[in-house]
Amino acid sequence: MTARILDGKSIAAALRGRLAERVAALAFRPGLRVVRVGEDPASGVYVRNKDKAASAAGFDSGTIHLPADTTEAALLATIAQLNADPAVDGILVQLPLPPQIRTEAAIAAVDPMKDVDGFHPLNAGRLAAGQPGLVPCTPRGVMHILAESGVALRGARAVVLGRSQIVGRPMAQLLLGADCTVTIAHSRSRDLPGECRRADILVAAVGRPEMVRADWIAPGAVVIDVGINRLADGKLVGDVDFTEAAAVAGAITPVPGGVGPMTIACLLENTLDAAIARRQLA
Ligand code: NDP
Repeated sequence: MTARILDGKSIAAALRGRLAERVAALAFRPGLRVVRVGEDPASGVYVRNKDKAASAAGFDSGTIHLPADTTEAALLATIAQLNADPAVDGILVQLPLPPQIRTEAAIAAVDPMKDVDGFHPLNAGRLAAGQPGLVPCTPRGVMHILAESGVALRGARAVVLGRSQIVGRPMAQLLLGADCTVTIAHSRSRDLPGECRRADILVAAVGRPEMVRADWIAPGAVVIDVGINRLADGKLVGDVDFTEAAAVAGAITPVPGGVGPMTIACLLENTLDAAIARRQLA
């Protein structure tokens, strides 16, 4: 079998196009502010890409870049200003933060209505309770890929490999909300290959290069590879051995060009949702 390639790049481009049309039809420009602290080089690239995509889709986008020695109190004060600014609809605090700042404190300081990363405990709780709220961008992007690719979710056995707050847990909640039968596997799980082989839909989000091999995958399964790992030679690979997996799976996302592009598109979608929800409440 040769798997169908699920082209996240074009699904993301189409989504960004639809969002741009919706933004153009508004009487205001939804505002997104990314707060970056310090000089983490990967963060620099991510922040620039977010800014570029947001501006291209018609959002009022801006980055606030604070020095690496910023105190937690100073960051919280910046977040408070953005919370109070009516022109700002979405706030994203780029992670990782320098060690003197507690990540949980920064996340909890963001107004839940402007929490376009969906990391605030209130939004995480809403998702777990099956209530509407802002959902983390990467899992939201995976749900778009599954929907656009016509993957049937109701009753399907889904296995999520990884249980982080950013990807694994919210991913599992979204799949559960879509009526999948969900297993969450992690570093303490016994028999990972056996757990994965039961999956009709396998989502890998572990951050281990090419860990998922052909014999972890049921013939015909849908494989979503969230992993982004850079090898010593500079090559970018996922958490799934793509060549092996593509020979067994029914459908698979590539790395790069799979889940990655969806994350930024869903950040814009969350910002538009936040802008509309806030104005409906006002
Ligand atoms: P974390 O490191 O926060 O979480 C990794 C999870 O995988 C943990 O739950 C951990 O288990 C589990 N895990 C790690 N090693 C193993 C192992 N050997 N066997 C079984 N489980 C394991 O990572 P993230 O969730 O933030 O990211 C995961 C991957 O997704 C990374 O490659 C990251 O770069 C990528 N990513 C991609 C994004 C995109 O836009 N496409 C966005 C965000 C992340 P335990 O909890 O037991 O420690």
